[in-house]
Amino acid sequence: MVAAAVARQFGGARRRLIEELEAKGVGDLAVLKAFDDVPRHHFVPTGVAHRAYEDAPLPIGHGQTISQPSVHARFLALLRLTGRERVLEIGTGSGFQAALLTRLAASVFSIERIAALAEQARECLRACGIEQVIQRVGDGTLGWPEFAPFDAILVGAASPEIPVPLTEQLAVGGQLLVPVGDKQGQALVRVVRTADDFRQERLDPMRFVPLIGAHGFEA
Ligand code: SAH
Repeated sequence: MVAAAVARQFGGARRRLIEELEAKGVGDLAVLKAFDDVPRHHFVPTGVAHRAYEDAPLPIGHGQTISQPSVHARFLALLRLTGRERVLEIGTGSGFQAALLTRLAASVFSIERIAALAEQARECLRACGIEQVIQRVGDGTLGWPEFAPFDAILVGAASPEIPVPLTEQLAVGGQLLVPVGDKQGQALVRVVRTADDFRQERLDPMRFVPLIGAHGFEA
């Protein structure tokens, strides 16, 4: 009874969030469907679960945050995934973005530097019946060479520079999305690997927690 009531309560909130994302310009139906499929309230601490379907970042512990849904949606819409891609995510955090990615790509790899968060994300994913995410704890600025090349690499944290190992691990035609700037503010940068070069463009202003690692900020 209680479980059904909770599901109904969050179901309504989830539909309203999807309408809000649409109103904010997210037109990609596959992305909206992913938001409908993945219960965000399972990926936030119980203390803030009542806010799970607000278009807002929320604290997930260890000084980190789950990103705002419209930011996740923006990343996913830019990638235009077809369901066949191999994707690498840097900064598993809550695991929510990784969960969305399983709805849009063929294989999802995700690296988190804080072991406790990686474990928490693993449990949330399992609780939602999502078993396809291949996770690792470590410095994501170095990428995951054993599984490269990737069709898409998403960095969910702010970097002072474009991490070179990540561009090197892109497949031809693959794209890297990374917020680049200082700790106060960044621009989302897209790097596309062409047959013999890299093409770069600066997109929206963003504000993320820092990427800490060999090709990010110092700890
Ligand atoms: N997409 C995630 C974003 C979490 S915040 C979500 O919405 O839940 C960014 C995460 O990046 C944090 O959990 C932080 O610990 C992690 N992070 C920072 N530097 C990292 C690095 N070098 N390698 C892997 N993860 C890193």
